[in-house]
Amino acid sequence: MSIRKVVKYGEPSLRETSKEVHKVSQKIKNLVADLLDTMYAQNGVGLAAPQIGENYRVFVIDVSTGDEPLNPMVFINPKIIKKSGAVISHEGCLSFPEAFTDVKRYANVMVKALDRHGRSFVLEAKDGTLLARAIQHEFDHLDGILFIDHVINRFEAEEVLKKCNLPSIELDKILDEPKLSEEIDILLKEKTEKND
Ligand code: ZN
Repeated sequence: MSIRKVVKYGEPSLRETSKEVHKVSQKIKNLVADLLDTMYAQNGVGLAAPQIGENYRVFVIDVSTGDEPLNPMVFINPKIIKKSGAVISHEGCLSFPEAFTDVKRYANVMVKALDRHGRSFVLEAKDGTLLARAIQHEFDHLDGILFIDHVINRFEAEEVLKKCNLPSIELDKILDEPKLSEEIDILLKEKTEKND
């Protein structure tokens, strides 16, 4: 299929809620193919349909590295059915070229979705692995949520965005995550103690 243009931070469509897929039609299969082509072309770990201007509840992930064979994973109409624990995740996003910052994520997630053939599956990703974090990152895109909405240090993130010539943080979008924040604070404290 084809490599598509990635929508950059600042475009209002990244903030929209995406539509459910009613049928895994040829159109959706083509969309999946374009997502994979675009993700691989940009060396991304994941890509969600709204990032190529298609507001459907579809994302792709591939966490394979180095010499490992490609392992494309397709998620259509995903639902996160369980989440627990906390992890500090250093993330970027293809819609935020060159920008990386630490964000709050759950360590463990269980997701239910349809694959590219329309078959239902359940997947559990644990221990704050790249897969566990990528699922949450891509899932958020379908609800117009961006990784910077989970930011740990807002001032540091502002600096990064500025350096990358990206629009500044949308303060009203930063999520209030009291339970997750509490667990992240413990992790940050442990990290500081280790460094002392
Ligand atoms: Zn992203």
